[in-house]
Amino acid sequence: MPVPDLSVPNRLARLIASNGPIPVSAFMAEANAHYYGSRDPLGAAGDFTTAPEISQMFGELVGLWLADLWMRAGQPEGMVYVELGPGRGTLAADALRAMRRAGLVPAVHFVETSPKLRAAQAERVPDAIWHGDVAPLPTDAPLLIVANEFFDALPVRQLVATKRGWHERLVAHTEAGFVPVPGPLIPAPLAPAETGTVVETSPASLGIVRALSQRLAAQGGAALIVDYGHVRSGTGETLQAVSGHAFADPWQEPGSRDLTAHVDFEALARAASGEGVQVSGPRAQGEWLNAMGIEQRAAALASAAPERADEIDAARARLVTPDQMGNLFKALALFAPRWPAPEGFA
Ligand code: SAH
Repeated sequence: MPVPDLSVPNRLARLIASNGPIPVSAFMAEANAHYYGSRDPLGAAGDFTTAPEISQMFGELVGLWLADLWMRAGQPEGMVYVELGPGRGTLAADALRAMRRAGLVPAVHFVETSPKLRAAQAERVPDAIWHGDVAPLPTDAPLLIVANEFFDALPVRQLVATKRGWHERLVAHTEAGFVPVPGPLIPAPLAPAETGTVVETSPASLGIVRALSQRLAAQGGAALIVDYGHVRSGTGETLQAVSGHAFADPWQEPGSRDLTAHVDFEALARAASGEGVQVSGPRAQGEWLNAMGIEQRAAALASAAPERADEIDAARARLVTPDQMGNLFKALALFAPRWPAPEGFA
């Protein structure tokens, strides 16, 4: 008997053959579960690099931001650090070091689905506790939550405008491979738009923000969400694939390329406010890092290691310069009703 081909493209093609075209969110979820589950995508040998992998300054400033909030909240006991999608654990290790210097030693809980990346995280943060989603996070302590480049990896639904109105976009499979096609008509009162206009929503992201906001409102604490995305909800397709540090076709080779979409910060902020949580930002990453003192941190690191001064300044510039990561990336803070307003957003 021939061995069935259980690769992601094959599984998706068989699913579509038997069920008909599937939502973009289902395609993206299946592709990314395999993608992140089967490799370490970060760094020069991988597909992309993230802020904490560019410089230790990023995680250190996140740690200082959390420690400052904790101090101004009256140094509550039994704090819990939560990171969503911690990658290699680099951000957590840098942030925890900065927090410890400020006297804050939280328990560490990671939300991570990839076995491969859990193993990498365990090397840097051995005493972490891992969860597959946010539901099992502790319910009895204030939470300090961090998510860098996490929400962009969560599945999006797409709606597309056609001559006949708005349709949910589905993914079909043809001889040419996977192709997006208009699915059922959307009866909702969306304003008419030029044919081909796409609207994206991420119900998975909103669900997680709502759940975390309910926890913050009940338990205290704060969350920092950093990602690429837009300040206002709007139209436009942002689903993208990255492979080997270059953009690629998101519809081809599902499971082998990183599929992401820009984060709709207005939608996340609205979801959080709806649960009674306070919101600061979003603010451009470059402005937030400058307000947090990245220049002073870079100068201190460079004076401790003069031979690395150029490298340290290049990393700082990459994180804050508007035409690099400084403007496309945004920081959004959520904080509990009786907690102080966080630094860096004024
Ligand atoms: N925060 C890290 C890694 C970003 S890559 C950094 O900045 O370097 C996205 C991370 O989210 C990976 O760790 C990936 O395995 C994880 N991830 C993706 N989808 C997930 C999901 N649905 N649930 C939990 N973790 C997920």
